[in-house]
Amino acid sequence: MVKETIRVYARVKPLGRRQQAGIYSVDNDEKSLSSLEIIVPRDLADGFVNNKQESYKFKFQRIFDQEAKQDVVFDNIAKPVAECVLAGYNGTIFAYGQTGSGKTFTITGGAERYSDRGIIPRTLSYIFDQLQKDGSKVYTTHVSYLEIYNECGYDLLDPRHEASRLKDLPKVTIMEDPDQNIHLKNLSLQQATNEEEALNLLFLGDTNRMIAETPMNQASSRSHCIFTIHISSKEPGSATIRRSKLHLVDLAGSERVAKTGVGGHILTEAKYINLSLHHLEQVIIALAEKNRSHIPYRNSMMTSVLRDSLGGNCMTTMIATLSIDRRNIDESISTCRFAQRVALIKNEAVLNEEIDPTLMIIKLKKEIQELKDELVLVTGKERTSELSQEELLKLDELIETFLEDNDPDSTLDVGADMRKIKYCFIHLKQLMNDSKMPDKKLLLQHNSEEKDSNKEVGEELKKLKELLQQRDNEINILVNMLKKEKKRAQEGLFQLNAASAGSTVLEQSLCVNLEESQSPASSSSLKEAKDFSSSVHRPPFLSRQTG
Ligand code: ADP
Ligand code: MG
Repeated sequence: MVKETIRVYARVKPLGRRQQAGIYSVDNDEKSLSSLEIIVPRDLADGFVNNKQESYKFKFQRIFDQEAKQDVVFDNIAKPVAECVLAGYNGTIFAYGQTGSGKTFTITGGAERYSDRGIIPRTLSYIFDQLQKDGSKVYTTHVSYLEIYNECGYDLLDPRHEASRLKDLPKVTIMEDPDQNIHLKNLSLQQATNEEEALNLLFLGDTNRMIAETPMNQASSRSHCIFTIHISSKEPGSATIRRSKLHLVDLAGSERVAKTGVGGHILTEAKYINLSLHHLEQVIIALAEKNRSHIPYRNSMMTSVLRDSLGGNCMTTMIATLSIDRRNIDESISTCRFAQRVALIKNEAVLNEEIDPTLMIIKLKKEIQELKDELVLVTGKERTSELSQEELLKLDELIETFLEDNDPDSTLDVGADMRKIKYCFIHLKQLMNDSKMPDKKLLLQHNSEEKDSNKEVGEELKKLKELLQQRDNEINILVNMLKKEKKRAQEGLFQLNAASAGSTVLEQSLCVNLEESQSPASSSSLKEAKDFSSSVHRPPFLSRQTG
């Protein structure tokens, strides 16, 4: 993954013969960013000294002044991007500037001299050159050429050659898949196997572009043209495919339609700009701002198509084309301002690799066949995926002998055949499960019996406890009765004041028995209480035989 800001360059168009130069200076610092200073002279004609700013400074990756030739521009701007695209990253180069500032000259080139070839033909030449040199991969190259005018897309590579107007060209529409990837319906992808074929396609597109343009609608200044080179590469025998694309974009003129104060006197910001460029500006502003979650890509077709190039998976470069004559100084300044904002945007280019499923299947099938062949070679036997009935019966026999063999060192040898080994394991598992069954049943039965007997013992215990409690109650009652009897006997003794040997004996025996029966209920006291109860009068509620 490569994360970097959009690289922004400036190119100053040579002045025309009758043009008056604006005041500007270029400071190309080799080590850091270059700077461009534009001076706006004070308007003395106004008759008073105003405080308007005079000097405007802008930073660029590099500035190409009037004398810079096409090859230098290509080497510095396009070649590094083309190299990334060859390595599997997406790339975009777009030219932004007012009409007549040299966008088309920079992107496509001038027709007069061969040396005026622009970025597209030079890039095609460079890419095919590199592809030819690299014999380690298989490359496929396609090109497409899209023109967007008034929010409508047109396929400039329509091979019918019948188009005389833009609207006769096939219309291209945008489709978005669930993953929010943009697909262009009706845009033809023409294969180009060499530089010549690709250049012919570029020529076809440019011809369609020119034919469709009429002086009345000036389509070229209001439309955007996107020439795209699609490269896919694959190492022989590998299922991994790298796909990358390079967009070379010639944008519509950035001039503001309604201007006040032409001629560099009063600088006013735009009143109106080509609508889709306005949307591009909104996207750039949103991307440059931190913490913006919504980026309005969908507002125009151009921003939708360039979505990945702006704030996405792409190495993007912008060329600000400047027409530096005095009349256009304000437009040049607004182009530079736009460029400064673009320079803040960070993109993350990732390697576009994918696995081709059909290639993967072919590869795996081949590998399986090779392994099968190897197996035949080693075992000397051809194998099918299933075991035959005969083989299965043989295995059953082997397992049986193995299980019956009491020798602890006995082995089950089925040979180095996974199918047979698996079968044996399954068979043994089944046997084990079956043999476990009776044991399980017994265990279950035993458990239920144990539960039943436990229940019975519990009930018995409960009954005995109840009985014991009942006995205790009876003893308590008897003890109370005895106490009362004793008291009464003592009272009688005092009253009579006479003692007889028989009554003393009775009293003594009563005392002895009372003391004994007052101790806590135990098996011995229970016995004595019973003996005693038989000798005294029994109350009605104790009449039941206690056993
Ligand atoms: P744009 O596409 O921005 O409207 P063009 O590329 O058509 O502008 O340029 C307008 C004119 O200026 C064309 O005739 C073109 O050949 C010429 N021109 C632009 N840039 C240069 C340059 N760097 N060197 C020579 N001529 C140029
Ligand atoms: Mg142009």
